[in-house]
Amino acid sequence: MPVSYSPLSLPNSRPAGPSVLDELGFDPDPNNLYRQTAVQVLDAADRVEAPRYLQLILAQPKNELMIHFPVRMDDGSYKLFKGYRVQHNNTLGPYKGGMRFHPHVGLDHVKALALLMTMKCALAHLPLGGAKGGVQVNTRELSPGEQMRLTRRFTSALGDNIGPEHDIPAPDVGTNATVMGWMADTYMNITGRAHRSSGNAVVTGKPLDFGGSQGREKATGQGLVYALDELLPELGLEAAGMTFSVIGYGNVGSWAARLLAARGAKLTAVLDQSGAIRNPNGIDAEALVGYANSHNGGVSGYPDAEKIDEESFYRTEVDLCIPAALEQMIDKTKAGWLACKAIAEGANAPTTPEGDAELSRRGVAVLPAVLCNCGGVTVSYFEWMQNRQAETWPVDRVDSQLRRIIGEASQRVRQMREKLGCDLRTAAFAAAVERIEHVYSIRGVFP
Ligand code: NAD
Repeated sequence: MPVSYSPLSLPNSRPAGPSVLDELGFDPDPNNLYRQTAVQVLDAADRVEAPRYLQLILAQPKNELMIHFPVRMDDGSYKLFKGYRVQHNNTLGPYKGGMRFHPHVGLDHVKALALLMTMKCALAHLPLGGAKGGVQVNTRELSPGEQMRLTRRFTSALGDNIGPEHDIPAPDVGTNATVMGWMADTYMNITGRAHRSSGNAVVTGKPLDFGGSQGREKATGQGLVYALDELLPELGLEAAGMTFSVIGYGNVGSWAARLLAARGAKLTAVLDQSGAIRNPNGIDAEALVGYANSHNGGVSGYPDAEKIDEESFYRTEVDLCIPAALEQMIDKTKAGWLACKAIAEGANAPTTPEGDAELSRRGVAVLPAVLCNCGGVTVSYFEWMQNRQAETWPVDRVDSQLRRIIGEASQRVRQMREKLGCDLRTAAFAAAVERIEHVYSIRGVFP
């Protein structure tokens, strides 16, 4: 007798009882990034009356993998490293999400970022689920050879927990195309024959000559600029003539800056790990990339701008600020300093809950990361498709498909905002949750 999985076969009512967070024993600290993210997603889920079973499922990842692995250093000694892979949800398709190499990588942090990946893929209607991972390490302290051995040993320790049909990592903070190339090569060497010569779809963000996609390096910045095309007009802003500042001048920040500058916007201030700089007459975004590349990635000391302190950076008057560094950098104090009309989130969750509330109190528009930075995973999806179909797309095709997906996702967010009368972040999460709920209602919950 076939089992019918109609939406009605799943419990739709939410009985009165403990909140999902209480039932699952969440850390009560409101600044815990995982709690912060889950609270936002569950609030959105409540607003679209998502059933409790779905809220419980989304509130915890499916799998949390923690690995300790030794790496031989150049001096012959061994160091033990801690790595993570959190697979949040794969209802829509294989797990997908970045690998971060950073000293502050920790479990709750990775869980939060994995949940956000589930939301991003669902909002963009990609056939992918959400994951995130990384290694607790300061790569600046490692030689290139040590970084390669760390990457390869971590990848081999992950074993078949990743794979082109199962879980597909990508670059994030502290990792890049070179690291993705090492991950793919390692996977192809340790896996079975099926993936030995065509298994490079196991990771995205690879070097172009080893299965990478045109347009992937700039994809997150490009997606952010396409999202701005959609959302700036309703704020009474347009890229041409607009002033903007950027926090973090790595992949996302520097590409967003270059692409916005190409549309006539003026970059006037930048803050990164090395310090802050300002020039009211404009900073050449392209030249700054060249400077940072030859100065250990940092913008400090750039000759055509004045050096300023952090507070002066935040107090610099601009139309738009783009946080593109790490999570929770903008707390209540910094949110109070910010002198911009809008924030376009390149980084995931760049504000603390109090910072978010302060921005809302001050009427600063927040364009949420779940929409603004989903360009990265979208072009990763294109790379994965190209690898699996043995195709190479020209950059025009990548860009036009990306623009279409960001346009449609923006439309979903706007429609949900109208329906619920809420802010853009809540609307984006609500649209994502609705998508996942719909697929669960078709698939059912096994068995
Ligand atoms: P990156 O490593 O290339 O750059 C990170 C930047 O942040 C650097 O300029 C660094 O100096 C700066 N930074 C670090 N700590 C800082 C601090 N305390 N104060 C000021 N600046 C600091 O990383 P990325 O790939 O550009 O990622 C940036 C953010 O965007 C991350 O939150 C990441 O998760 C998110 N993101 C990245 C992608 C992608 O495709 N790379 C996609 C989606 C989201």
